[in-house]
Amino acid sequence: MKNKTILIKNADFLITMDGHRREIRDGGLFARDGFIEQVGPSSELPETADEVIDLKGHIVLPGLINTHHHFYQTLTRAVPAAQDVNLFHWLKTLYPIWARMTPEDIRISTKTALSELALSGCTTASDHLYLFPNGSKLDDEIEAASEIGLRLHASRGSMSLGESKGGLPPDSVVDDEEYILKDSLRLIQRYHDPKPGSKVQIVLAPCSPFSVTGELMAQSAILAREYGVQLHTHLAETQDEEAFCLEKFGYRPLGYMQSLDWVGNDVWFAHSVHINKEEIQVYAHEGCGVAHCPSSNMRLGSGAAPIMDFIKAGVKVGIGVDGSASNDGSHLLAEARQAMLLARLRAGLMGASLSGEDSELLFTARQSLELATIGGASVLGRKDIGSLEVGKCADFIAINLNRLEFTGALHDPVAAILFCQPVNVDLNIVHGEIIVKDQQMVNFDLQKLIFDHNNAASKLLSD
Ligand SMILES: [Zn+2]
Repeated sequence: MKNKTILIKNADFLITMDGHRREIRDGGLFARDGFIEQVGPSSELPETADEVIDLKGHIVLPGLINTHHHFYQTLTRAVPAAQDVNLFHWLKTLYPIWARMTPEDIRISTKTALSELALSGCTTASDHLYLFPNGSKLDDEIEAASEIGLRLHASRGSMSLGESKGGLPPDSVVDDEEYILKDSLRLIQRYHDPKPGSKVQIVLAPCSPFSVTGELMAQSAILAREYGVQLHTHLAETQDEEAFCLEKFGYRPLGYMQSLDWVGNDVWFAHSVHINKEEIQVYAHEGCGVAHCPSSNMRLGSGAAPIMDFIKAGVKVGIGVDGSASNDGSHLLAEARQAMLLARLRAGLMGASLSGEDSELLFTARQSLELATIGGASVLGRKDIGSLEVGKCADFIAINLNRLEFTGALHDPVAAILFCQPVNVDLNIVHGEIIVKDQQMVNFDLQKLIFDHNNAASKLLSD
């Protein structure tokens, strides 16, 4: 319907994340065709619209943005042999299982991950699909995602450096480089939409320094820049990776990226845990973004990324739940909480005093929320999402404050949603369209999806 309007009003608190970080009491917003036309106190907004939602008793926030995921891994959560091992062993355990996936597995897992994300407050998700077994294509993910309705930044991942050439993955899951580049171009031409309000963007994302060749990385960067799409990869996740890069390429991971022209405003790296002071300055100077994945880094024992140092240096930082085999969930609000807690643990371990005048060293709930909203938007190169401002997309979430989890914390509802037990959201709206209402996916049979997903997962593990 053209010219469709939506009005939300009477929210106890509306958190804008605008330049002034306004937190409006008794607030609301008015949007037309998916874009915000007015934000402010309810009394200053139009009286009616095609859809009117009264949010008394709720806090309203910009939709959360996920900057790193592997949706397909929802099929292999908590696999026994991969529970208690570090990244390289975890990957070697899971590669052969992932090699059995079908296009239908990609579709089912995409819907599962996006449902979890939507219920946890996410309105834009980046995903990194880097193996395409048994005829799978990125198209399977993009088509399945359109059924859920979140914005998708679909990263066309790739692996080309198999074991026989000194890489980590078995040769059975790596692809021919000429084909990877041809398919990347096809996907950009078919799906990439750079316009404001875009629902699908394509990203080129060779998987990691230990699973692709430098030549593929360099060629991917040339192609991405020709078409104005972003570049993404895993970087500086573990000490194993650092040792691999030093031995094989003679560089630390970031130095290797610099040698391949893989730095710039159009590049964001997942993890960036093992990064030194000089390298943080390179990120800041070049404009590289970081997808911070605290749960995964703890789960795999990888370490704790220097998030506060990145932020102090002016580096763009967003939050990623990472793949569901190393989290093993896709709850974005919970991940923002983990980011806050891990930054505090790291500060403590680095010797910062946790009391008195040094207490400003602690990472705050509002800082963490910034990463999950405007931080994520800047990492993904988007100016049209991440805050509730006139002209931006009508992507927002609402959480009912009258619940057990927040009891006793309502003197600061913003802090409550980060400090208290993470909850699912009551309302999730993307581009003015309702995705979640009353903590339920609308127009979508979640019970059937859970049934299909469990069947697909058990088949994958028993084959
Ligand atoms: Zn990852």
